[in-house]
Amino acid sequence: MSFTTRFAPSPTGPLHLGHAYSALLAHDMAQDAAGRFLLRIEDIDQSRARPEWEMQIYQDLHWLGLSWPEPVMRQSERLPRYGVALDQLTALGLTYPCRCRRGDIEAAVGAPQEGVPQFGPDGRIYPGTCRARPMSEAGPEDVIRLNMEKATRALPPLSFTETGPAHAGTHRIDRDTLCHTVGDIVLARRQMGSSYHLSVVVDDADQGITHVVRGQDLFDATQIHVLLQHLLGFSTPRYHHHRLIRDDNGKRLAKRDDARAIARYRAEGVTPDEIRSMVGLG
Ligand code: GLU
Repeated sequence: MSFTTRFAPSPTGPLHLGHAYSALLAHDMAQDAAGRFLLRIEDIDQSRARPEWEMQIYQDLHWLGLSWPEPVMRQSERLPRYGVALDQLTALGLTYPCRCRRGDIEAAVGAPQEGVPQFGPDGRIYPGTCRARPMSEAGPEDVIRLNMEKATRALPPLSFTETGPAHAGTHRIDRDTLCHTVGDIVLARRQMGSSYHLSVVVDDADQGITHVVRGQDLFDATQIHVLLQHLLGFSTPRYHHHRLIRDDNGKRLAKRDDARAIARYRAEGVTPDEIRSMVGLG
C-alpha cells in the first residue's frame, strides 16, 4: 500500500507551533514518499470541541500551504463505527463496565508503594474494583474498560516499527508491561461511546494509514494501539514519533499557549516559510 499518513488535531483550542511542526512533517514525509496526507478532526469529546476551533484548524493549515483530500474524517460522525468495534471486544469477553469515579479510584489505590507504577499512558492505573461486573449491567453512568489481563492472555508475538529519532527500531509488545504499567484502559468514556485509544485505532485502520506521524508524548500509548489493532483484526502501521516543540523554558507547548498560536504569528506578519524555519523544517 502506498504511504498514507494523517494529522489528527482536536478542535479544543488554537493550533500552535507544535501542531504546525507535526502537520508539516507528516505532509513533507507524504510528499517525499509520493504518498497521501489526510486530515482527521478528533472531536469525540464534544464537551471540549468547538466549531470555531475546527474552522481555525482548516484556515491555519491552508495558510501553512497544506492540502488534503475532502471530505475530512470527523470522529463525532463515527460513533456507530466505534460501537461496532467495542461490540467486537465485548464479544471476545474482554470488556466490563466501571462505575468508579476519580475519588473511588484514588481511595482504592491507597498509599503509593515504592517501585509500583501509578500512572501509565492511559492515566491512573486502574485498581480493578469493577473488573468482575458483567456487561449486562452497563449503564449510562459507566465507562467501559478493557480487561488487560484477559486481553493479553494468549498474545502472539506483536511488535511495531518506529522510525522516529528517539526510539528508532522494532518494539515488541510485552504482556507484563501492558498489565503492570498500563492496566485496564478506558475504551468508552461516560456519555461519549468511545475513547481516544479506541477511536484512533479504528480511524487509522479505516483511513488506510500506513505511517502514523505524531508527537513523542504518544510513544507509550502505541503499545495500547498495537494491542487493539491485533484484537480488532487490523494491521499495524509504522510509527514515527517526533520531538516536541518547547517554549523558551523547555516546557512543551499546550493549547493555552496563545502566544505560540499560528493565527497569532500570522496576524503579526510572520510568513509560512518563517514558521517552517522556526520549527526546524526550513
Ligand atoms: N488528537 C491527538 C492530539 O491532538 C493526536 C492523536 C494521534 O495523532 O494519534 O494530540
